[in-house]
Amino acid sequence: MSERADVIVIGGGIVGTTTAFFLSRRKRSVILLERGLTGQQASGVNFGGVRRQGRALEQLAMSNRALETWRHAREWLGEDVEFLPSGHTRVCYHAHDAEYFHRYAADARAYGLDLDVLEGAAMFRRFPFLGRDVLAASISPLDGHANPRLAAPAFGRAAARLGARIVENADVVRVEKEAGGFRVESAAGDVYRAEQVLICAGAWANLLSTQFGEPVPLMARGPQMAVTEPVPYVFPFSMGVYTSIKAESVYFRQIPRGNIVLGGGPPGPANADTRRASVLPEHTVAQMAQFRRMVPAMRPLHVIRVWSGVESYLPDSEPVIGPSSKVDGLFYAFGFSGSGFQIGPGVGETLAELLDTGSTPIDLASFSIRRFQRATSTNPEIVTSETSP
Ligand SMILES: Cc1cc2nc3c(=O)[nH]c(=O)nc-3n(C[C@H](O)[C@H](O)[C@H](O)COP(=O)(O)OP(=O)(O)OC[C@H]3O[C@@H](n4cnc5c(N)ncnc54)[C@H](O)[C@@H]3O)c2cc1C
Repeated sequence: MSERADVIVIGGGIVGTTTAFFLSRRKRSVILLERGLTGQQASGVNFGGVRRQGRALEQLAMSNRALETWRHAREWLGEDVEFLPSGHTRVCYHAHDAEYFHRYAADARAYGLDLDVLEGAAMFRRFPFLGRDVLAASISPLDGHANPRLAAPAFGRAAARLGARIVENADVVRVEKEAGGFRVESAAGDVYRAEQVLICAGAWANLLSTQFGEPVPLMARGPQMAVTEPVPYVFPFSMGVYTSIKAESVYFRQIPRGNIVLGGGPPGPANADTRRASVLPEHTVAQMAQFRRMVPAMRPLHVIRVWSGVESYLPDSEPVIGPSSKVDGLFYAFGFSGSGFQIGPGVGETLAELLDTGSTPIDLASFSIRRFQRATSTNPEIVTSETSP
């Protein structure tokens, strides 16, 4: 079997499905090839944090774009992905972190992100449930959370309604440049051709970029998640601890049924080959201790389930987004290092624009794959994000 389109997207996570959606809106023909089911990997099992604050300033233009999509998701997709713009708050325990909140808020304003920083009595009036160790809170009123289980499949279905071909259970094993474009082959021997290819294959992207002589020091890790028994619904927003001490980090949100979903702390092991990520019990114990420190009234809560997912990390914690440095028509987007869910639709929209028109007003220079050409690929040290989803 052989099929042709303008663009082949490899990977059906939040980045691939949103790129297919925005390309289809631009009337470009798209084939999206997904090894399993859309949203089956990191995009479908994450915390669901729709958080702009704490990102590198260079990410904010795409992150703001993404927020517009989250806000319009129900209207544009014709289905609800449970985006709740209930606000996202970061709190901290250390004076230098409180000072950083003020600095970041001042810097982020120039990039279109407005934050309110509260301290002391004003903060406790606003959030009376916070532990008395908390020094300051940075509030992003327009952010919130969404349901990761629903999002990528919904973007995939919306893209399909606009004409994209979404092919699940299609494991891409080979991508080659040929006259007039690319030849992409699946494990089943099906062949697809297009003028442009986007590789957004999460923790597996390196296997494909290496086929074009662009290996990157991509590492798989598993952010640690837990969910508690249900209690009365009192926390519509999403909240987390910002700290330079990774062990102190924890973040949470509550779903209307009452369960509290938690994450934070150091990620656990993940294996890209087996596609499994584990939760280490000691991480869950530490996470709950930090949760009780942040919200002492939650002390009696029991954890009823834990999980993780295979996420791709890069040494500088920033993603690769943009054109290949070696092959015309080839593009990449991967390595979101624990925070690709919120920004995913902004990346998808930006890539669709770039593939369709050849340019985008968003500056992608700091996300170029070129930055790894000089980097050693042996024993890369992972710098995990200090921020919370
Ligand atoms: C537990 C957890 C919690 C997180 N919490 C948050 C959060 O609250 N907020 C936030 O912003 N981010 C969060 N993240 C990060 C976020 O989920 C990811 O950064 C984001 O989903 C990455 O999307 P993606 O499309 O790049 O990758 P993925 O979702 O991994 O999608 C890549 C897809 O490519 C497919 N694929 C791979 N190789 C091939 C191939 N050869 N052929 C065909 N298909 C292939 C895979 O099957 C997969 O479906 C979290 C991640 C995890 C794991």
